[in-house]
Amino acid sequence: MQFFDIVGQTDTKEFLTRAVQTNHLAHALLFDGPAGSANLALALGLAQYVNCEAKQVNDSCGRCASCQKMQKLVHPDLHFVFPVANLGKGKNSETYLPLWRTFLLERSYRSLPNWLETMGGDNKQGNISAEEARNILQKLSLKAYEGAYKIMIIWLPELMNVTSANALLKVLEEPPAQTLFLLVTNQSDKLLITILSRTQRVAVRAFTDEEVATHLRQQQNLDETTARRIAYLADGNLAEALRLSSQDEKGVGMSQQHAWFAEWMRNCYKQDLTKLVKQADQFDGFPKEKQKGLFEYSIRLYRDLFLWQQGAGELLRLPDEELSFVKNFAKVLTTAHIEHIVADLNEAAYHLERNARAKMILLDLSLTFSRLIKTKLPA
Ligand SMILES: [Zn+2]
Repeated sequence: MQFFDIVGQTDTKEFLTRAVQTNHLAHALLFDGPAGSANLALALGLAQYVNCEAKQVNDSCGRCASCQKMQKLVHPDLHFVFPVANLGKGKNSETYLPLWRTFLLERSYRSLPNWLETMGGDNKQGNISAEEARNILQKLSLKAYEGAYKIMIIWLPELMNVTSANALLKVLEEPPAQTLFLLVTNQSDKLLITILSRTQRVAVRAFTDEEVATHLRQQQNLDETTARRIAYLADGNLAEALRLSSQDEKGVGMSQQHAWFAEWMRNCYKQDLTKLVKQADQFDGFPKEKQKGLFEYSIRLYRDLFLWQQGAGELLRLPDEELSFVKNFAKVLTTAHIEHIVADLNEAAYHLERNARAKMILLDLSLTFSRLIKTKLPA
């Protein structure tokens, strides 16, 4: 990964490259940022930079032998430790390394749910088990093969079990020569204080909507409107944005969500039963992911409508069509209406998850909303 490929984060990139150039790089860095931020990508960028054979001021060269291996994640001095779902005894990150490489090569912005789903352990909890301690120590006892540095990237160290956390602590206290530890965390408050105190923290902020949209346009070739809409839904989490955009490719139709939702609400408002029944039939025929996506979208918009009514309109980062919906419906609905609607939507999403008939769920909601919208409720 080259720094160049990471959208924004200019200060952090500069800080890292300067530290390398001036020989001030700490032996253990903690990339501390929310899920779906650039923390993992920045760690990968730094790993490539330190071992690049033809470093430039701002970035690795991307072409030397070291860079090529780093880019494929097969550099012999690059080691990974990451959580795995407890799928069987004796399995640790080493077991899943080939899958992990494919997973990261496909996209560098990833979240734990993405990974657990890829591992086939989506209903399980991921952790870095006690088995991993031996793995860490073994990898560190190796001499650097070819690079200037041996690098260990630990993804989500907050999920380390006590034994492996203590093994890590021990090596951080007495670090082997020419070894760089890059810890990538989403929840630094869950780390042992002793680990925190032995790492240099690199704060990584969430992406802005603008950055997410730029990435989607440039790297995923999405059009401006779809990119902006997905950026809005993803809330600065690029892993989530990429998941949504791949759903969009599979025909879940992120770009048409608003049109569908707006029509649904119009039909409810007009109490147009014929159209509502038709829309319930249509909903019934959608793939489950799309049905879930529509409910999530509706909840999201009502939450923003609520914020608007509380006078927090400046907080909204809504795309144009959504903004005009919010403005129009804010005239009709009170806070009490919105609370009611959001509660109903959440309950509907719950039933959908448990395989209740989609058509009945939507029809039921439609009738409730039609009545509710016309009922006077206190502001
Ligand atoms: Zn290079």
